[in-house]
Amino acid sequence: MTVSTAPPDRAHQAAKRYIYAFGGGRAEGDATMRDLLGGKGAGLAEMTNAGLPVPPGFTITTEACNDYFGAGEKLPDGLWEDVLEAVRHVEQETGKGFGESANPLLVSVRSGAKFSMPGMMDTVLNLGLNEQTLHGLIELTGNERFGWDAYRRFIQMFGRIVIGVDGHRFDSAWEKAKEARGVTADTDLDAAALREVAATFRQIVREDAGREFPEDPSEQLDLAIKAVFASWFGKRARDYRDFNKIAHDLGTAVNVVTMVFGNMGDDSGTGVAFTRDPNTGEKVLFGEYLTNAQGEDVVAGIRTPLHISDMQQRMPELYRQFEEIAGRLERHYRDMQDLEFTIERGKLYMLQTRSGKRTATAAVRIAADMVDEGIITEREALARIEPAHVDQLLRDQFDPSAKVQAQRLTAGLNASPGAAVGRAVFNADKAFEMAQQGEKVILVRIETSPDDFHGMAAAQGVLTARGGATSHAAVVARQIGKPCVAGCASLVIDYATKTGRVNGLGFSEGEWISLDGTTGEVFVGALPTVEVRYEEQQELQKVLEWADRARRLQVWTNADKPEEAALARRYGAQGIGLCRTEHMFREGERLDIVRDAILVAFQATRAKARRDGGESLAADDEAVVARFDEALAKLERLQEDDFEGIFEAMDGLPVVVRLIDPPLHEFLPNHAELIAEVTRMEATGVAKDDPKFMEAREMLRAVEALREQNPMLGLRGCRLGLMIPDFVKLQTRAILNAAIKRRRAGGDPHAEIMIPLVGHVNELKATRDLLDAEAKRVEEAAGVEVDYKFGTMIEVPRGALTADEVAKHAEFFSFGTNDLTQMAFGFSRDDAEGGFLLDYVERGILPDNPFQTLDTDGVGQLVRTAVEKGRATRPDIKLGICGEHGGDPASIAFFDEVGLDYVSCSPFRVPVARLAAAQAALTGAAERDK
Ligand code: PEP
Ligand code: MG
Repeated sequence: MTVSTAPPDRAHQAAKRYIYAFGGGRAEGDATMRDLLGGKGAGLAEMTNAGLPVPPGFTITTEACNDYFGAGEKLPDGLWEDVLEAVRHVEQETGKGFGESANPLLVSVRSGAKFSMPGMMDTVLNLGLNEQTLHGLIELTGNERFGWDAYRRFIQMFGRIVIGVDGHRFDSAWEKAKEARGVTADTDLDAAALREVAATFRQIVREDAGREFPEDPSEQLDLAIKAVFASWFGKRARDYRDFNKIAHDLGTAVNVVTMVFGNMGDDSGTGVAFTRDPNTGEKVLFGEYLTNAQGEDVVAGIRTPLHISDMQQRMPELYRQFEEIAGRLERHYRDMQDLEFTIERGKLYMLQTRSGKRTATAAVRIAADMVDEGIITEREALARIEPAHVDQLLRDQFDPSAKVQAQRLTAGLNASPGAAVGRAVFNADKAFEMAQQGEKVILVRIETSPDDFHGMAAAQGVLTARGGATSHAAVVARQIGKPCVAGCASLVIDYATKTGRVNGLGFSEGEWISLDGTTGEVFVGALPTVEVRYEEQQELQKVLEWADRARRLQVWTNADKPEEAALARRYGAQGIGLCRTEHMFREGERLDIVRDAILVAFQATRAKARRDGGESLAADDEAVVARFDEALAKLERLQEDDFEGIFEAMDGLPVVVRLIDPPLHEFLPNHAELIAEVTRMEATGVAKDDPKFMEAREMLRAVEALREQNPMLGLRGCRLGLMIPDFVKLQTRAILNAAIKRRRAGGDPHAEIMIPLVGHVNELKATRDLLDAEAKRVEEAAGVEVDYKFGTMIEVPRGALTADEVAKHAEFFSFGTNDLTQMAFGFSRDDAEGGFLLDYVERGILPDNPFQTLDTDGVGQLVRTAVEKGRATRPDIKLGICGEHGGDPASIAFFDEVGLDYVSCSPFRVPVARLAAAQAALTGAAERDK
């Protein structure tokens, strides 16, 4: 195909050139001019240049639209004269006259923005019709019914879109006309009836708009152009742009195109087709058409269209021609195309070509096939696939047709993707129990806490009324690959009645519900799902291998268990960037052991310090120390086994183990529930020395002693390890002994120990002294040296700002962007997302939820500073990120740009991150080339 060189100049009266014409095998614009001509205009120009049959017309630029609004909804001076000149050009091309009754030129006036916004803006067909030109049309076609039908359609469409008449009025008049004649099909109304309908429609315009229907084609055109401009700011279009993050200042172009009629008899027709199947990606023409019909009939569903392959039998020559054009357009644009065509009395016209929308499956297959077919390169294929597509391909999905018919109850935040179906259960223990008995359950909670983990792990999915993208429910669900809808604010969850309600509708315990974690929707009932498996997705694997060759960033994973590590490895993870050791504390009997240790931790630590200072201990202190050490010993054995499993699953790859991070009260029972329990016991007169009562009282005392006003900013992270050094020592021993065992068993473990929440270098230094001393003891006892790395998280702003100091004691940094975001904004992770944050995003106060997509301007600057300062002190420092942003494509682009070595994300996001990292590298390279 040829692409025109610089567009020939067109004389214009307006200050700027606003018009680009096409027709007769030559266009003034081309495919590169999407900004100015919109996608449709650029496509029409390009097709014309390529010698394809396109009806003549012209495009009024997006710039004209913007200037129109800039001037307070007034056409720029001179534009109207230029439009009339362009109409004259079309008249010459077609040999028809605008408003000429003998041989009338009729046009469509269509919107067309830079980015396709299907159905979001307006289009008017058959413009130029009035009582006179109608008679010319009837004469020319010899078809009175066709003429009157075109006319009534025009009044209806123009009346609704341009004049603003309530469309229902036309619809009911139409139904009445059919009733009056005792017919049901639209096609049963004859010419006389349609003539009456046209008169009624004009009467409706008169009544509703208080004006006559405009007969003058020029006035029609003027009004229609302005209406199409106005549709750029229509509600539908605005909402669509908000959702798809399309700028509001791009404007729409207007395409004025000669009408061709698909409804001129059985040798006419109209259709839409994709050059490949947009659902599966298969290389076949996919689409439908109708004979003797206009475009709107295909979409409106009034008649059932035929499959495009039918055309092969009915109109073989036209089909062959269309197929050939489709192939040419696809090769030319080097992408799957979405085509619109019309056949007027045996002649084929192309009305539109654009890149076709497609499912995730099709996106990957088409990209892979086109590389095999030599149409695009591997790099281009990578750019064509959206990271969200990869994510979708790895999650079970709801059967799309079932979803359309299902009863949608409400929607919340799409916190972890995938489809989940199960019986609603409001309590984690119950969820766990039912799952053990083979039931499928969905855990429904107001919000989840670490106590709920077993229920979450056993459930098919998790639904919460509060909390956002980094809430406990969201983080854990993503990590273990469970669909999760979080922060469903409209859902009233009542634990007492075991119900979830939205405006009185909803579900009770045991009833089936379905969650779509990809969209955040919640349905009542059990929707059918479609299962997917990574191993079976050859094309996806192929594309991800290309991604691996293109990317610079490594992709690691956040995993706490051997199974998670193994899964992530299958998905291509190159290491563990975050093993949250405390997650291991919550399984089964462990929680009791941990609680036992916590209850006496402070007393035991103080006693040990006195003993180390040479004091002898009283009996009760001795007992407390013994109890503490016993609990820690049990934990150490359990943790050692855990680490061994993880090192084995990640053999040969780095494993970053983070020492205990959360505030201790997280492992203890809920304060309010404990008070209620103790009060209840007291009220029922239980004996003061009743063991159950004493236990509850002791627990309450411990919980109260550990209670903090702001636990997230309280005694957690390295602060905790410095207050209770035994935690650091125990975990160091468990990690290193596990590594020694693995090495002795012939394995290749790579331990990296990471200290959380460092704000001052002295915190890190003190922890390191403690840890190194303990490591030495382990090495001496085992008689071997262990090769481990020591590093820190950068997640406190002060830590980032003083990273040059911090780097003196750390061989690696891992950015904890969850905490860094929390502390940079001063937003509580627990409260902000469930509260004002989503509102902030909706109102445009923030562009995105900063816990999902990194705030590069603010938090990003902290990361950048820390990278620069860290490298200044230690040029070979290894830099990674393990906050939730590690799996977010937009954030990954930033991490690539600032030069991190790896991103770490939950196992299910590893494939997405592989693609996003490749796209970041390719975009970065393209930018540098510029
Ligand atoms: C972080 O803060 O980004 C992080 C990974 O740690 P956590 O979410 O466990 O606080
Ligand atoms: Mg953190």
